[in-house]
Amino acid sequence: MRKRTIWSAVLAATLVLPAALAAPAVASPSTAFGVSAISAVSAVSASSPIADQLIAGLPAARAAAEATRARLGLDDSPLRSAVLDVIDPTQYDCPTANPPVLDAISAGIQDWTADQRLAAVYAILFDIPMTEAAYLSTPGPYTFGAKGAYSKKATQTFKDLKRFWDIKSYDIQLVPAHGRMLLNQARVTKVFTTIYGQPADLSANTAAFIAAQVDTPALKFGDHPIFTFNAYANSSEGVPTPGIGLVPDRIVMGDGVLDGFALVGLGDVTTQAIIGHEFGHHIQYEDGLFQSTLPAPEATRRTELMADAFSAYFLTHRRGDNMHWRRVQQFVQMFAQIGDCGFSAPSHHGTPNQRTRAALWGFGVAESARRQGVVLPSRVFAARFETVLPALVAPDAD
Ligand SMILES: [Zn+2]
Repeated sequence: MRKRTIWSAVLAATLVLPAALAAPAVASPSTAFGVSAISAVSAVSASSPIADQLIAGLPAARAAAEATRARLGLDDSPLRSAVLDVIDPTQYDCPTANPPVLDAISAGIQDWTADQRLAAVYAILFDIPMTEAAYLSTPGPYTFGAKGAYSKKATQTFKDLKRFWDIKSYDIQLVPAHGRMLLNQARVTKVFTTIYGQPADLSANTAAFIAAQVDTPALKFGDHPIFTFNAYANSSEGVPTPGIGLVPDRIVMGDGVLDGFALVGLGDVTTQAIIGHEFGHHIQYEDGLFQSTLPAPEATRRTELMADAFSAYFLTHRRGDNMHWRRVQQFVQMFAQIGDCGFSAPSHHGTPNQRTRAALWGFGVAESARRQGVVLPSRVFAARFETVLPALVAPDAD
């Protein structure tokens, strides 16, 4: 099982930590979920025996989560220690401010209680709703966005992508992840025990604690975008996942990313752009495009920027989503906002500037052939991308 995400998902954890103690937004991902997260949570006072136990158990829980995710091959884990420092941050122009979408989804978090933050850290650390949707079967009917606002768009886009690209895709599923599953103690317990191998008693108690804290207006009864601000593409490549069995190839679409980008005026394009990106990862699985001799951060950056380009090409192409310049600018902005500056982390997805350039390049390829209307074979498109990659990632600092 391999899994790819839409962004490095590092900031989600720091957003729920007490502001004074949280790592800066541009900190290396190696610390975002690391010691600073644990000490920050430990520094808040607990209100109950289970809260005490969860605070005391956080380092062990983190280690367990990390070990399981590594075993499952979740190569985009934000928990991984950065061991390589191959990309020099001083060479790249990178913003120090949060992108607008992160400010929008994190508004109000500073008013959460210590217990609400603790529950949220566990939910995000184990990535409960997204992980469940990726590995287990979830009840339908499938809707997209916490209020279902993007269901039609998501379903239609997915159908269009299958028709547009030349890979074998009939067996790929599109599934939603809803944060409100955190209210369902049985389902949360099952994620802890089945996927992470956590003890049954502790899992049930943790699930009860999470449900109680999440079932509040501040956390939007689970629909808060922070819990599902991501999207996954996973492929088992025919190999059963230990303890789980054979998992179908999937795209998991978190409500939070759709609702979050709607808050900053990009709701019109985000569904299509994100699903297009995740579909791009399935192209990479099917065409064998993940092989690379690059070290971890550069290898991830390469496949992420390529997925942005696959998406932009589909979004612009006359036989794809046929978007014109106004909406092209919007999806380019969206990709920029999920760029990151975690240069040395294995999960580095590319800086905002690089993601902008990759999306604009994909747009340009489609636009320059608009009249002919021919859709390039995915391998041909990927080969063209490889030739421009060095230019897309060239140092751009002043
Ligand atoms: Zn991705």
